[in-house]
Amino acid sequence: MKITPVRGTHDFFGQQVIKYRTIQDLISHYSVIYNFEEIITPIFESTELFKKPLGENSDVVLKEMYTFKDKNEDFLTLRPEYTTPMIRSAISNNLLEKLPKKLYGIGPMFRRERPQKGRYRQFNQINFEILGTHDISADIDLIILANNFLKNLLPEKKINLFINSLGDKNTITNFSIALGNYFKQNKKKLTEESQSKIVLNPIRILDSKDPTDIEINLNAPQISDFYSNEAKEKFSNIQKILKDMSVDFSINMNLVRGLDYYCHTVFEFKTSDLGSQDTLIGGGRYDGLTKLLGGPDIPGVGWAGGIERLIMLMDDIKPLQKNIHLIIINESFKEYGLKVANQLRQKNISIHFDYKYNLKKSLSHANQLGARFAIIIGEEEVEKNLCTLKDLNKNIQEKKTIENIIKDLS
Ligand code: AMP
Repeated sequence: MKITPVRGTHDFFGQQVIKYRTIQDLISHYSVIYNFEEIITPIFESTELFKKPLGENSDVVLKEMYTFKDKNEDFLTLRPEYTTPMIRSAISNNLLEKLPKKLYGIGPMFRRERPQKGRYRQFNQINFEILGTHDISADIDLIILANNFLKNLLPEKKINLFINSLGDKNTITNFSIALGNYFKQNKKKLTEESQSKIVLNPIRILDSKDPTDIEINLNAPQISDFYSNEAKEKFSNIQKILKDMSVDFSINMNLVRGLDYYCHTVFEFKTSDLGSQDTLIGGGRYDGLTKLLGGPDIPGVGWAGGIERLIMLMDDIKPLQKNIHLIIINESFKEYGLKVANQLRQKNISIHFDYKYNLKKSLSHANQLGARFAIIIGEEEVEKNLCTLKDLNKNIQEKKTIENIIKDLS
């Protein structure tokens, strides 16, 4: 029986694991610098958590959720994104008493999309969220956090930041009506997929990557014509501060994001090195979302980044060298050798042991791996309660007590 991986899923091994952990470490470093608390939520939630907030007509809800009926007839869904579960958790655990609340999380998400390069059905996301402030400083903080993280992780890569504002609720409603009318007039020129969105979700047509749709989108009404004064001011202040802070960005009026809950600021960091799945990080404001999920009427802003896509852009990382090799030259000295290794490891000294009991083979293996030291255990060492420490670079060796070896190697 040969069982193959499920379509759209993948395993992490070798370099991918090293890169995954590097990203995780960097994220936990930034979480300290920017003062975010980690939150870990279940992988499945009630389906209701996603349906309305993400939009009953969004692609995610209509086509991509892994939903199943539990034995007690409840509908459960493998989380397709992390913002709503994080807010649900903040509400369930009364974490919203002191605001703002700054939360982050890392973990797998599930969407039944068509798999392709950079697009999986199980993928991993990093999420940062700030709940409880309208202040554009929070939007700026999150954009700069993403910008610094990407520059640190991928210093050689060209990554572009695009921003837009979706205005407030009236902006989106009025813009949606105007867009619907425009697309109705041009219905025949749109692709079939976009035609199906005209009535229920005309804003999503702006996301289309099809050249025929892109052509029609060029003359579509612009969201900026529907901004309130407040929305206009917010957006121009954000641009001014980003410029003052020397953050490069471009405005993309067609940037609308895939989920229904966004308003005001939206942004995406994109690369040209990955083909069509080019968004590394995407985010924005979601001021009505916490209330919609049964919590207090507080605003929020956040972003999500895809770990698989980041890994695809990272250069290989040299694994930590297995620097100190334990060589037990005969199996009869095993017990003493393992005791030595245990004492050293308890002092946080990393010891590599190949279970070979063969001096020649193990020394040549240690040299091949570029090891710095070998600790050799033979008859004399066992009798005198010593170890031989061999410096493989200098090719000198000396018998020492374990205490002295610990001193030398710490
Ligand atoms: P979204 O929640 O759709 O805004 O996605 C945020 C980020 O998650 C994207 O910018 C991608 O980097 C990543 N992402 C989203 N969907 C997938 C997927 N199916 N496979 C891999 N990464 C994804």
